[in-house]
Amino acid sequence: MANWDYDLFVIGAGSGGVRASRMSAQHGARVAVVEGRYLGGTCVNVGCVPKKLFVYGSHFSEDFEDAAGYGWNLGAAEFDWPTLRDNKTREIERLNASYRNLLENAGVEIINGFGRLRDRHTIQIDAGRTVTAQHILIATGGWPHLPEFPGREHVITSNEAFYLDAFPERVVVVGGGYIAVEFAGIFRGLGAATTLLYRGPLFLRGFDDTVRTFVANQLREKHIDLQFDATVERVERSANGTRRVVLTDGRVLAADLVLFATGRSPNAGDLGLHEVGVEVTARGAIAVDDRYRTNVDNIYAIGDVIDRVQLTPVALAEGMVVADNLFNGADRTLDYSGIPTAVFCQPNIGTVGLTEAESKRQHMTVRIFESTFKPMKHTMSGRNERTLMKLIVDVDSDRVVGAHMVGPDAGEIIQGIGVALKAGATKA
Ligand code: FAD
Ligand code: NDP
Repeated sequence: MANWDYDLFVIGAGSGGVRASRMSAQHGARVAVVEGRYLGGTCVNVGCVPKKLFVYGSHFSEDFEDAAGYGWNLGAAEFDWPTLRDNKTREIERLNASYRNLLENAGVEIINGFGRLRDRHTIQIDAGRTVTAQHILIATGGWPHLPEFPGREHVITSNEAFYLDAFPERVVVVGGGYIAVEFAGIFRGLGAATTLLYRGPLFLRGFDDTVRTFVANQLREKHIDLQFDATVERVERSANGTRRVVLTDGRVLAADLVLFATGRSPNAGDLGLHEVGVEVTARGAIAVDDRYRTNVDNIYAIGDVIDRVQLTPVALAEGMVVADNLFNGADRTLDYSGIPTAVFCQPNIGTVGLTEAESKRQHMTVRIFESTFKPMKHTMSGRNERTLMKLIVDVDSDRVVGAHMVGPDAGEIIQGIGVALKAGATKA
């Protein structure tokens, strides 16, 4: 038996790495985790948590307007960006400390620095110390993908959006996925004139088509300028800091801030994978089997770096599988069907299961139940915001195979519906 420093060494203390470290230590393993930036990873520092705090912050502008119909006269509201930004940062720092406590209380050793594989059992920390482990888990997450175009140095990604020095008056958001739609809502709600540019005919590809169209209408209602079939050719910066966004069709938009939200790539570039012989996919993700084992059989990978489903609860679940299988005598895999997901645009999207198009591709005979209505709150607020609900029901079994909602708190509501669908709920 070799004498390893650790039973498990985890590279990356984000959603997946923290969970796998804690659970493994609680099962009795000797565990260390190395983190190069921030405890809690993307979700806690530049993802889910600060994003959701910003969404809450941005919704107050509507709440103040809506209050008038209920008899409240609040006067002119004023927004102070440094207050929101810095209170958010303080909350993140509190969470960083709480993650440190969670890990330390579980008996996990935390090492600061960037880890890199030297061989299948050895990890180098920065340029210095090396450690050895029987098992290694790579949980290094992802990083914003910025396409190549002239002037890309004049744009930001979501990483920087959380720490802006000044709040911009005019924002152009490029992309049509989760981050673009969420940040367009945040900037608009906080008062910026906001344009969203998407390269295809309709954004939110992969979501149910009814939802996509409905959300587009709702965002336009809130004066977000949605421009589809729009591709950026280059971005220029003038002496006073204004950005000129030049599109391939010749149109030009002026902005104070340009945010690119064009997907995230696996963080697998500088880990020594090639030297150790760990295989990666064509998209640069670490290739794993259904128990998260790479082709080097003591090295595992989970979370965004394997590029299956880039969501925190999925990274957590994958981390639990690795910990259970290695140190708790289990032999588990995960079922990736029916993962509920939410987009925190305003109003939210909450969705679980198949879209109507997917059910047709699977040759199912389905019945569609659809309802849109004005939430009772807006009968008196006067706001022209509507809610959508759509169920996709398999005719043969009466099972609900998809549920889609756009409306206030749909992101929370869909959690309960997700449980029902997973439990096999029928329409009846
Ligand atoms: P991460 O959480 O990214 O953790 C990886 C960690 O590894 C990082 O801390 C990094 O610094 C560290 N690291 C990398 N390389 C090294 C190295 N060589 N050595 C040491 N450390 C290293 N998901 C949701 O479910 N809900 C949401 O609402 C949501 N909102 C999001 C909003 C934004 C703006 C973004 C960007 C993402 C959001 N996500 C959301 C996605 C979610 O954040 C990720 O899916 C999740 O964080 C992935 O977890 P992970 O453990 O794979 O990686
Ligand atoms: P997404 O994959 O969701 O969306 C990327 C968008 O960018 C798509 O609209 C895509 O268009 C477009 N795009 C890609 N490449 C280019 C390009 N070269 N030029 C122009 N447009 C381009 O990625 P995000 O960055 O929004 O978020 C990354 C992931 O993080 C999400 O997929 C999600 O898993 C996770 N996340 C989850 C959240 C949540 O749970 N609420 C919130 C934020 C992020 P097309 O569709 O045509 O390919």
